[in-house]
Amino acid sequence: MKEYKCKHCGEVFEKPLLLARHVRSTHKRAKTREKKGVEKEKQADQINKTIEAIGILKGLQVSPNLSAEEKKILGEVLTRIEELLAYTQRSK
Ligand SMILES: [Zn+2]
Repeated sequence: MKEYKCKHCGEVFEKPLLLARHVRSTHKRAKTREKKGVEKEKQADQINKTIEAIGILKGLQVSPNLSAEEKKILGEVLTRIEELLAYTQRSK
């Protein structure tokens, strides 16, 4: 009798239909979960980098070399980035 072996985990099935169902339910879903995990990690990394960038901008903002106008512009940029960050964290 012919056997249908899963190429992912080696489990053996009697019918190709059963194998297909097994692959769909066991391995496809696991893959999606993995992908989501990677995306979440990437997003967390992006958020950390953005927080770092905000820190750099805040450091620049108190620099004595900047004019009042330049500090104001930096402040506006900072507010925008912080709003975007808050939005990103909310929608997670
Ligand atoms: Zn399998």
